[in-house]
Amino acid sequence: MRMEIPAHVAFIIDTLERAGFEAYAVGGCVRDAILGREPEDWDITTSARPGQVKRLFRRTVDTGIKHGTVTVLLKTCGYEVTTYRIDGEYEDARHPKEVAFTASLTEDLKRRDFTINAMAYSPKAGLIDEFEGMEDLRRGIIRAVGDAGERFTEDALRILRAVRFSAQLGFAIEEETAAAIRKMAGRLSLISRERIQVELDKLLRSDHPESIKRAYELGITAVLMPEFDRIMETPQRNRYHDLSVGEHTLKALRYVRADHLLRWTMLLHDFGKPKASLMDSDGTIHFHGHARISAELAREILKGLKFDNATLEAVTKLVYYHDFPFPVSKAGVRKALNRLGEELFPLLLEVCEADSRGKNQYAQETYLPKLLMIQRYYREIKEAGDCVSLKDLAINGRDLIAAGMKPGKELGNVLERCLEEVLEHPEKNTRESLLELAGLHFDAHLP
Ligand code: ATP
Ligand code: MG
Repeated sequence: MRMEIPAHVAFIIDTLERAGFEAYAVGGCVRDAILGREPEDWDITTSARPGQVKRLFRRTVDTGIKHGTVTVLLKTCGYEVTTYRIDGEYEDARHPKEVAFTASLTEDLKRRDFTINAMAYSPKAGLIDEFEGMEDLRRGIIRAVGDAGERFTEDALRILRAVRFSAQLGFAIEEETAAAIRKMAGRLSLISRERIQVELDKLLRSDHPESIKRAYELGITAVLMPEFDRIMETPQRNRYHDLSVGEHTLKALRYVRADHLLRWTMLLHDFGKPKASLMDSDGTIHFHGHARISAELAREILKGLKFDNATLEAVTKLVYYHDFPFPVSKAGVRKALNRLGEELFPLLLEVCEADSRGKNQYAQETYLPKLLMIQRYYREIKEAGDCVSLKDLAINGRDLIAAGMKPGKELGNVLERCLEEVLEHPEKNTRESLLELAGLHFDAHLP
């Protein structure tokens, strides 16, 4: 079988082979190239030791020399070249205690997680597929290499990776592999939050974010994010919903763009509903105040997963405002712009739209036209250049002091009051009317 590989990768393999070593493209890139997907990166596996690799290429970086990885730099691209290795005893379901180099490609392929990730390719040797990876690709299944239970004991992260790959590729998880996941999901608690974050993020940003339901069915979310299990178990019965909170969330996830902030917001937006759930005498279920509770949970969960602050703040804010608690008017939109900022506001509109599309027909007929109005107001506000933040206000602290106010906390309060007024009445954003509003004398000669 012949495969298209980038010229750089062919060059690295050829260079290693000319020096008497074996070398292959391996893992995810082989899988993706066969599927016609653009590989994220091309990894190379070789019989050469790190020192030998370094002598063959002009520019290299010691990326993980202990684990046998050297990055070869060609032009502006880097390629990880890793020596064939066997992972030693696993101490704690996390890190191999030691890695041993080996002269055998087969041994190197055996340590890999899934059959579809355990294929190697070189232009001379063609495809090396010792675990029926090709057959599993054709059938669309994720299957552990060798005994699934043993593989998950060595490294429990593979449990979550199985669902992640099934979400990215739209594949099913093979039965024995799934049974082992069910049995061993608890071991995910041994894995570092950083590694969990990477896999969850890839799962959510995939073509099938709704596959998180599979993680629920297999007992994975119970370990990593029990709040997800709660929404799956929370029914909704009101004018806007006929799905459970969980099923609505899965539907909304499918409707939102594959953006990191949007997908996390959509996942978390209703996590507060189980707590806020209240039933009327007529059986209707309300969720008053759920957005605020969801935002608190979102913050805790993202923090627990070691997300960066920017992500944490943005998602928490989007979750907090996902119900658009502003009047559907130009003033309301200006307020929303002020609370969210110019960057997050357009994302909020996408969140609102996906949320609406995840609801029933009646809800969509109610909310989508409102959303169109909001979008129109937003366009008009931008065109008019209306003031929506303190920095656009026609006066600042210095102006107030020049007009006779004392420096201090009150200054900030006055500016806030002026801004609130201007958000309602943009035409009042002039020095004259704002100083008048502040109860100060307007002097046209002020600088
Ligand atoms: P992506 O497209 O996300 O990069 P990938 O398959 O390349 O997917 P990586 O995490 O980049 O995944 O790992 C590269 C290869 O290394 C995998 O294809 C697999 O062969 C092997 N691998 C990575 N992580 C593990 C693991 N935890 N256990 C066993 N093998 C692994
Ligand atoms: Mg990769």
